[in-house]
Amino acid sequence: KPLVFSGVQPTGNLTLGNYLGAIRKFVALQDSHECIYCVVDMHAITVWQDPADLMAATRSVAAAYLAAGIDPSKHIVFNQSRVVQHAELAWVFNCVARMGWLNRMTQFKEKAGKDRENASVGLFAYPNLMAADILVYRATHVPVGDDQKQHLELTRDIAQKFNNDYSDRIADLGLGVEMKVGEEVVNGYFPITEPIIEGPAARVMSLRDGTKKMSKSDPSDLSRINLTDEAEAIARKIRKAKTDPDALPSEVQGLEGRPEAANLVGIYAALNDMSREDVLRDFGGKQFSEFKPALADLAVAKLDPIAGEMRRLMADRSHIDQVLRDGGERASALAEPTMRDVRKIMGLLTN
Ligand code: ATP
Ligand code: MG
Repeated sequence: KPLVFSGVQPTGNLTLGNYLGAIRKFVALQDSHECIYCVVDMHAITVWQDPADLMAATRSVAAAYLAAGIDPSKHIVFNQSRVVQHAELAWVFNCVARMGWLNRMTQFKEKAGKDRENASVGLFAYPNLMAADILVYRATHVPVGDDQKQHLELTRDIAQKFNNDYSDRIADLGLGVEMKVGEEVVNGYFPITEPIIEGPAARVMSLRDGTKKMSKSDPSDLSRINLTDEAEAIARKIRKAKTDPDALPSEVQGLEGRPEAANLVGIYAALNDMSREDVLRDFGGKQFSEFKPALADLAVAKLDPIAGEMRRLMADRSHIDQVLRDGGERASALAEPTMRDVRKIMGLLTN
């Protein structure tokens, strides 16, 4: 079975964007893939985190994975910092990736804001750690939201550069595998990863600003729906969501230039496992005053069971901690052989 890796940062309350763009896809891949799902706490600390909040958020993301339906007995669920090989490979990739590549990363520019001199070095190097997260397992498929597309392209560039820089050593040691890069068949150590991004909710937008991504670290709670929001809060946030004054169009093309309408229709489609065309077949010509309550009811129906299960899981910390500990051991057992190869390939003496 192909190997999937993905992760979510423990940086706050999980949002509908995290659920539709990432976690729901994690669940769907379980039957056809071998999966490793990580709570990426070392990514979280690229901006300062209160230690107690970080621990709570780490358990909460793990609880959300389980509540959404990830089976930790069949797949691996753990927090990143337990498996030190992530950091070790990230250092190697700091030496493979080029400054120019990282300078082009838009997420750094957004997160660092105007005061770039004061951003942590970790925030700048973040995509190298992300590449290490994936490649330390030689994972081939990565389900993520659309905002991570650029980082996954960087992951492919890093894998290719490593494969090229050490191609002779890789061949001499017999550690290469044949893989297709575009049309070419090459021999390399790290796979060229495929992102899994598609779907109507690959980029869920803020409820306050249809041009901005919904984020768990956005200061405005009204901008997002949290997985743990009460029914009443979900309804209120959707009622207050920014929209334009027109009725919904009956064709998808009619959503062009209407980012807020497109966002709400995309959310409805994703929550109800239907296409945007189907949503507009039902709601085309209707006003938001009619569509919003239907969307709120649907969101509550889908999210409430997950929130309930998260609360149940969070009440007994020992179970979550056991899952993370066990997952960490299984992940380490996969990551260390990769690092042994990498040390050998690069000439780092460890004997
Ligand atoms: P932060 O603001 O701290 O970066 P975040 O909401 O962006 O938080 P991440 O932990 O960075 O969450 O991302 C976890 C996963 O959720 C990634 O796969 C990311 O692409 C996906 N994701 C995040 N926001 C959205 C969104 N608005 N729509 C779709 N997917 C999203
Ligand atoms: Mg993010």
